[in-house]
Amino acid sequence: QTPPHCTGGTRLGSPGRAACCSGRRCGRQQAMSSVNGTLFLNYQPQVDVRSGKVVGAEALLRWNRPGQGPVPPDRFVELAEDIGLIGRIGAWVLEEACRVAAAWPEPIAIAVNVSPSQFRLPRFYKGLVGALGRSGLEPWRLQVEITEGILLNDTEETLDELKRIRAFGVSIAMDDFGTGYSSLSYLQKFRFDKIKIDRTFVNRLADDPNAVAIVRAVVGFSEALGVIANAEGVETAAQAEVLRAEGCLEVQGYLYGRPMSSEAFVRMLYAARQN
Ligand code: C2E
Ligand code: CA
Ligand code: CA
Ligand code: CA
Repeated sequence: QTPPHCTGGTRLGSPGRAACCSGRRCGRQQAMSSVNGTLFLNYQPQVDVRSGKVVGAEALLRWNRPGQGPVPPDRFVELAEDIGLIGRIGAWVLEEACRVAAAWPEPIAIAVNVSPSQFRLPRFYKGLVGALGRSGLEPWRLQVEITEGILLNDTEETLDELKRIRAFGVSIAMDDFGTGYSSLSYLQKFRFDKIKIDRTFVNRLADDPNAVAIVRAVVGFSEALGVIANAEGVETAAQAEVLRAEGCLEVQGYLYGRPMSSEAFVRMLYAARQN
């Protein structure tokens, strides 16, 4: 068994020249340079709301900073972007997620988060195709989760790049749907495979009729567009019940499983076979 740390091909221990400090080691760079060996991925199940079956998993990055414990990923992804490390970290995440998912006992999907600055790197597409090739994972099993931050600038080029990825067979999900400024206009411009309804809406489903109305609307136009609606951050049976009643297809959240190691996730898949 490969230990769950950052090894495979990508050395993060020597970031070299960072954008923020042109060669000299600043405090932030030193913080990140101890990353090697402590980065790992967790996997959170994505569940078909009607059958209760696990249909996929989202890979979520974890960093235990030596002596300080876990650092929230959104915070250190931002840090990695600032010091120019996001390309290497993102490439490692893709490589690792594809490698791990290729060994799962069911041919289910693996969703990987890609930040805007990682996506804009010219080598992103090549890295993605390479990770698929090296792992043997079929392209249709990989899903790239992007936020609308990706679509804010350079829209034509970005759309072409998204189309190229999708033409290769990889699916694209719009993450955190409804939290930005122009989510709807992006749906018009690009054919996403999945819309992930942000958990700020899901949170309030049991007691806020406005949240129910919003989810109903998103599910409605997802159906019309032929896009899968996924509700994130489902924590209670009451929220799940509303989502089922509204026809949301896919759910994800602590109610179904917290982000976990690949080993725990595989045990979950086997346990589901028994039922
Ligand atoms: P996200 O993509 O929206 O991921 C969902 C977040 O919600 C995860 O937080 C997950 O642990 C959390 N979550 C899942 N179910 C529940 C629930 O029922 N209740 C609550 N309260 N939270 C739930 P996490 O792992 O802390 O990640 C935060 C963000 O960091 C992610 O938000 C994503 O934007 C970013 N991130 C994580 N891994 C990566 C990565 O590999 N690459 C990039 N670029 N960003 C990543
Ligand atoms: Ca996500
Ligand atoms: Ca999200
Ligand atoms: Ca987020």
